[in-house]
Amino acid sequence: MPSNHYDIQDPGFSKLIQKNAHVDTLWTGGRWCEGPAYFPAGRYLIWSDIPNNRLMRWDEMNGEVSVLQSPALNQNGHAVDMQGRMISCEHAGRAVSRIEHDGTRTVLASHFEGKRLNSPNDVVVKSDGSIWFTDPSYGIDSDYEGDAAPSEIGAQNVYRIDPDGKISLVVEDMVQPNGLAFSVDESLLYVADTGKTHDPDCVAKIRSYPVKSDGATLGKGREFVTTDAGLFDGFRLDVHGNIWSSAIDGVHCYSPDGRLLGKILIDEVVANICFGGPKLNRLFICATTSVRAIYLTTRGAALWD
Ligand code: MG
Repeated sequence: MPSNHYDIQDPGFSKLIQKNAHVDTLWTGGRWCEGPAYFPAGRYLIWSDIPNNRLMRWDEMNGEVSVLQSPALNQNGHAVDMQGRMISCEHAGRAVSRIEHDGTRTVLASHFEGKRLNSPNDVVVKSDGSIWFTDPSYGIDSDYEGDAAPSEIGAQNVYRIDPDGKISLVVEDMVQPNGLAFSVDESLLYVADTGKTHDPDCVAKIRSYPVKSDGATLGKGREFVTTDAGLFDGFRLDVHGNIWSSAIDGVHCYSPDGRLLGKILIDEVVANICFGGPKLNRLFICATTSVRAIYLTTRGAALWD
C-alpha cells in the first residue's frame, strides 16, 4: 500500500514511485534551503542556505553535512556542467559564476548591455555547453537574501550565456522567472514564474518555450501548468519527460502533456529539487529549513543537471 506521503492523482504516478520508500530527512537547521545539485564524481549534494549566506555539502558515503563555503555571496541555484564543474547563481555577486577544477571562481555573467544583473536565481546547462539562467529581483529586494539595491535593468528576464561568453536575452514576458529546465530532447525550455510574490494577479505557473532550430533562441511561450498550491520555484525532469516541481505542499509531478500525476507531500514549503545518487533515482528536496530525499523508480534526465 502507498504510504501517506504520496498523493496519487493518476495511475501513471504509481509507476514512478517506490511504494515502500519513505522520505528521509538528511539535515535540518537551514533558514531557506535552495539550489540543490548532485555531483556524481564525488557522490555529494550541495545546496544553498541563502539567508545564512552559506553553501552546504552532504556526503553520500557517510551522511555528514558540512559548510562548503561561508560567506557564499548568497548563492541560490546551482548546476553541474558537463566537465563536472559547479555553476552558481549569486544573489550578492549579482552574477553567474563557475568554480574551475583548480578551485578558482570565474564570473560568466554579471551584466547585460552594460547594466548589472538583478540576482540570478536558477540555472541549467544545455548539451551544447550554453548556460541559461533566470534573473528575478529576490536577491536585491531586501538584505535578507542578498544586498538591497535598485534594479539597473528594470526587468526580470531569462538569459543565455553562449559557450563563447556572449550573453543574450531569451525570455522577457515573465514577472519573476525562477526555476528552469529543458525537455529531455531540448526542444522546449520550461520556466517557472513566481511573480505572485509581487503581483497578486500573477498566477503561479510554469510556461514552455519552443527552442528554435538554431538551438539558441526561443519561440513564443505558452502556459504549461498552473497551481494554487503556493508557487512553482525550482524543478527538474525525469527520463520520461515528467516534470517534478517544488510547491507549497511538497513535490508535484506533471506528465509531459501537463497532467498532475501525483504529489510527494512534505510538511515544509519546498523550494527546489534535484535528482541524484549513482543511479539518479533519488530525489533530493530542499524544504525550507531541511533537506529531504526519497527513492523513485524513475531517474533524472541529465547527468550534468
Ligand atoms: Mg528559485
